Amino acid sequence: MTSGFEAQLRAASLRVTGPRLAVLAALRDHPHVDTDTVISLVRADHPTVSHQTVYDVLRALTDAGLARRIQPARATARYELRVGDNHHHVVCRSCGAIADVDCAVGHAPCLTASGDHAFVVDEAEVVYWGTCPDCATERTSQRSVSSEGSS
Ligand SMILES: [Zn+2]
Ligand SMILES: [Zn+2]
Ligand SMILES: [Zn+2]
Repeated sequence: MTSGFEAQLRAASLRVTGPRLAVLAALRDHPHVDTDTVISLVRADHPTVSHQTVYDVLRALTDAGLARRIQPARATARYELRVGDNHHHVVCRSCGAIADVDCAVGHAPCLTASGDHAFVVDEAEVVYWGTCPDCATERTSQRSVSSEGSS
């Protein structure tokens, strides 16, 4: 099902290419993936696509507003197709898992600044940090095990 992607690319004045469709499909099926994962997903179907091509496609899609680039502190950049709704992310401190969180107020900026120094504020970057269910379970079951040697 790539016809929707073809229409999106054309609407953004981007040429429809195999790599662009492959990257869009990878982001649809795996939201919040990093560049290396996108490369391996694309190469599973298109072994000849170069790293540079994937980088270029990600940049073109992001610039055109078809994809969103997020980069929580200490994490590598991730990409997703959910754009334009100012949603936020909850990030697991242990494994880096990311999930979407709808904007609390529905529009940017999510928070009213207590003082804006006369800046015109249009965005508040909100990231929720915590422990994902998998890591929480693991932590509970390993409570008596020494964590020595974990990175
Ligand atoms: Zn986790
Ligand atoms: Zn998201
Ligand atoms: Zn918000």
